[in-house]
Amino acid sequence: MIPAGAKIISVSSVPGKGDPIQIFNARTDHTEDVVRVMKSDEEWRAILLPEHYAVARKKGTEYAFTGKYHACKESGIYTCACCGTDLFDSQTKFDSGTGWPSFFAPVSDLNITIEPDLTGEMARNEVLCARCGAHLGHVFDDGPAPTGKRYCMNSGALYLQKKSSPVRISPKIQSFRK
Ligand SMILES: [Zn+2]
Repeated sequence: MIPAGAKIISVSSVPGKGDPIQIFNARTDHTEDVVRVMKSDEEWRAILLPEHYAVARKKGTEYAFTGKYHACKESGIYTCACCGTDLFDSQTKFDSGTGWPSFFAPVSDLNITIEPDLTGEMARNEVLCARCGAHLGHVFDDGPAPTGKRYCMNSGALYLQKKSSPVRISPKIQSFRK
């Protein structure tokens, strides 16, 4: 029996759906509680552009030097093409010469998930969006100072949100720039 007036909280049958997670908002400089974004493959295919779907949902890799952002020098925040989560600040972008947009740090470690990827010839670490699980690219240990990391991303997983006014950047990135 459910007592009168009791609130019924709907619990999804999909594991992880609706789980609250913390995400860093690069615009407000604050960490926020949000829910995960989880959709079926069909739902993603229906709402994403084909190039975003192929990379972000099917773990595709775009050809080097073909993506929208590898040579982009615009300032702003690179967000997840699937769910809009802030991922990389243009201030951490560098020219890696690889033909893929490369960054030395995410806006926050909260916003990405790193998982071992054993599908290729060499073991790599896959980078995923923490909020929706989108495949973004891989991270390597041959990046520049100050982190030594190279986040090798696919343009097709990203969407650059330009800002006319200076973007607020996390204290972590501010400390990199001192
Ligand atoms: Zn996402």
